[in-house]
Amino acid sequence: MNPYIPRVVPIVDIREETPDTKTFTIAAPMSFQPGQFVELSVFGYGEAPISISGGDGKKIDLTIRAVGNVTNKIHRMQVGEYVGVRGPFGNGWPVEKAKGKNLLIVAGGIGLAPLKPVVEHVCSHREEFRNVTLLYGARKPSLMLFKYKFDEWAGYMDLLLTVDEAEPGWEGHVGVVTTLCDKIRHVADTITLMCGPPIMMKYTSMVLLELGFPPSEMYLSLERNMKCGIGICGHCAVGGVYVCRDGPVFSLNKAFRFIEKPHEVQGVLD
Ligand SMILES: Cc1cc2nc3c(=O)[nH]c(=O)nc-3n(C[C@H](O)[C@H](O)[C@H](O)COP(=O)(O)OP(=O)(O)OC[C@H]3O[C@@H](n4cnc5c(N)ncnc54)[C@H](O)[C@@H]3O)c2cc1C
Repeated sequence: MNPYIPRVVPIVDIREETPDTKTFTIAAPMSFQPGQFVELSVFGYGEAPISISGGDGKKIDLTIRAVGNVTNKIHRMQVGEYVGVRGPFGNGWPVEKAKGKNLLIVAGGIGLAPLKPVVEHVCSHREEFRNVTLLYGARKPSLMLFKYKFDEWAGYMDLLLTVDEAEPGWEGHVGVVTTLCDKIRHVADTITLMCGPPIMMKYTSMVLLELGFPPSEMYLSLERNMKCGIGICGHCAVGGVYVCRDGPVFSLNKAFRFIEKPHEVQGVLD
């Protein structure tokens, strides 16, 4: 099998999540680990790495925000049209390591997409974990992903939501994700999984480090410009690792070897 040749598969469902984000279900049979991604081709436009946000072995879900060439084009496509897909690639979240422990999931904006398979794993295997908390923040309530899942998820975990800016009808918390951190009940024996904009991950890491979470037990998913997805082309090489092959999920202490370590945490980590 040539790993550069995509499988050509149809779009079988499209769900509008927010004004700029849709979930595309494509008929690509594959098994995957939560946190893995595929290289998605839109023919004539290019390829982009996209996390798998769900799947049943026969189909996968890709939750895509329209930001550029490939992603804007797929937003104009319809059910029945064809895309290419390679993968799954990458290492995924350390779900096995979290078994028997507390689990803290922190997501910002579109960062909930790669974490959704973990959340769904928790719902279907609740007995594998101790306390589970999901903190999710978005800029506005209308920009929250997967709102139709929140009631179900809240039956299995502490679900804490926040928005930077309220809209009419929002009666929940207002403030960035870090303002929810004082509601975290369990620090010891906890695995943390985090995905969101770099600024959110930076400040959340700092707050969690101050609360006593060890950096070796905190994991984040890094976004890097990548092409091949299989650790050959070198586009995503940074500090001796290929983000596509060795990541995209890294523990915080490993990530700080090659991303800028915030000045404020120097003392905590050194
Ligand atoms: C491992 C991994 C998983 C990812 N998972 C997802 C996912 O599940 N859903 C998703 O929507 N995206 C995801 N992304 C980001 C996605 O790959 C990029 O948004 C995509 O490559 C953009 O391709 P494009 O051709 O549409 O944009 P381009 O035409 O390449 O870029 C157009 C412009 O948008 C800017 N741009 C590119 N990416 C982003 C971005 N993420 N945010 C803001 N501006 C950007 C570029 O700098 C450029 O100026 C993931 C990235 C990685 C590395």
